[in-house]
Amino acid sequence: MPTLPHQHTSNYVGRFAPSPSGPLHFGSLVTALGSYLQAKQSQGKWLVRIEDIDPPREVAGASEQILNTLAQHGLNWDDEPVFQSQRSALYRQKIAWLLEHNYTYFCDCTRAELAALAPKTLCCCATQSNFKKHAAIRFKNSKHIKTYFDEIQQEVSHRDSEVQFAIKRKDGLFAYQLAVVADDIAQGITQVVRGADLLHATFYQLALYQAFGHKPPSFAHLPLVLSPNGSKLSKQNHAPAIDNQQVELNLFHAMCFLGLSPPKSLQTTTVKEILNWGINAWQLSAVPPEVACNDNRIKALYSI
Ligand code: GLU
Repeated sequence: MPTLPHQHTSNYVGRFAPSPSGPLHFGSLVTALGSYLQAKQSQGKWLVRIEDIDPPREVAGASEQILNTLAQHGLNWDDEPVFQSQRSALYRQKIAWLLEHNYTYFCDCTRAELAALAPKTLCCCATQSNFKKHAAIRFKNSKHIKTYFDEIQQEVSHRDSEVQFAIKRKDGLFAYQLAVVADDIAQGITQVVRGADLLHATFYQLALYQAFGHKPPSFAHLPLVLSPNGSKLSKQNHAPAIDNQQVELNLFHAMCFLGLSPPKSLQTTTVKEILNWGINAWQLSAVPPEVACNDNRIKALYSI
């Protein structure tokens, strides 16, 4: 029987995992679209996970706003969106496993104390196995990984990949590295397509996969959309929210940033047609590792 285009006929599972620290901006739309096109062209699933485990950084209403913007742009997720704030039991279970298998230590050092250590030196907590109250739980990153292959950025290396990162923070919150790996494993993610700002976080995540004895997904880090001063366009530097009144134009421009050359006529068609064109034209190998925009009109449109 012939299969309908873009149905789930493969084992591919991808995801978009925004933190609700503000509304979606053009950079996060590019990331969302890249992971969506890759999942749909692979005839797999595209999941959305709201990474709301850091209440101090959360902006009220941002989760709903992000989901609404995705939906307006026709980026319809498969399954129900997952909220990290509801998954504490999973994170606790993963931490308990790491504690039991001697992969962790309690560290009550202050930031200043850690910063004062000589490079590549561990603090004294690392050699102690005792429980400490109000302490961070750090991962003993002993078999540190120095290089990995990224589907877009190619060979990635890291000189300081041995950092003993936290899996539970001193303030009691679960750390991003732990939550993201726990969820990607639990959700069966086969490929992580996300922004290149997380290129180095991948080293810590790979170390966790190794400890859990779980095969990691493959990674593809998309080019970052930069602000006029050359920093990553982000919610923290107040990148403007995506304008839902011009979804076709937003998708059209986001595709150009991902190495696609959509015909101009697509700007006046429907969201569905633009996305279908993108799914058919998509080529991960054609995505540039970096992008620079020289078009002043587009720069002004998205404050980039
Ligand atoms: N929540 C992270 C962010 O918004 C992305 C995490 C990931 O894709 O692994 O920057």
